[in-house]
Amino acid sequence: MALGKSAAVVIGSFPLGESDRVVTFYSREFGKIRGVAKSARRLRSRFGSALELGTLGELVFFDTGRSELVRVDHFDITRPFNRVREDLERLGRAAWIIECVARMTADRDRHVALFGLLVRAMRALEGSVKPARVALAFGVRCIEALGHRPRLDACVECGRAYPFPRASLGAGGLVCEACARRAGDALPISPSAIDALDRLRSLAWDEALVRPIGRAEAELGDLLDAQVSRLIGHPTRSTKFLRELQRISPAPADRAETKRETMKGMTEAGS
Ligand SMILES: [Zn+2]
Repeated sequence: MALGKSAAVVIGSFPLGESDRVVTFYSREFGKIRGVAKSARRLRSRFGSALELGTLGELVFFDTGRSELVRVDHFDITRPFNRVREDLERLGRAAWIIECVARMTADRDRHVALFGLLVRAMRALEGSVKPARVALAFGVRCIEALGHRPRLDACVECGRAYPFPRASLGAGGLVCEACARRAGDALPISPSAIDALDRLRSLAWDEALVRPIGRAEAELGDLLDAQVSRLIGHPTRSTKFLRELQRISPAPADRAETKRETMKGMTEAGS
């Protein structure tokens, strides 16, 4: 039975049996890893609140080699990111970021840069930067880190060099008008959004969080979410929540309830 140790972020969990929990971590040393946290749902569990979605900690586990699931021995909090959970907008964006990592990675596929990006994004969500921008800067980099960098210099179908009028964005990058009619699932993208996307991915992380990109920001957010949905094969669950949030903007009394439901939905979505 091998002992493993790594810094890791909780990216999902669901109850198992009477008192246990299956927890998914994204770890620095092993990539995505799932484990059983024994008695995690007991009142006086030794895990305390450490297994909440988004928490960064030091994971110690036993790998029995007999199952996909490891046995979680310890998870000591390094940074709980409590501020992210105090606000619905931050929480929704964190859920989207975590969903990207949980859905676009395979088990035990180590990716140190992606782990670093996840932690940087969670940290930024606690700061003063707009949460939507953090998600955008993260999403652009996450897609690239996982090898899905969209091509922006030419139509991916016919090779026609950009700029051309009425461009769309498909799975691999820009598509010209004629090819978009044939390709089907490409979405229209404005020249300013193409420009903003190009800038965002070339800027350093701190710059990408603050550099003004004007009205293209919302458009780019939607396009990025569509890109992620294409890659994972279904719409992101966290976006559905964010849309609801924008639509209802609940009164303060309802917010606690909405937040509880969200935490529950998000936690299980990430598993
Ligand atoms: Zn074309």
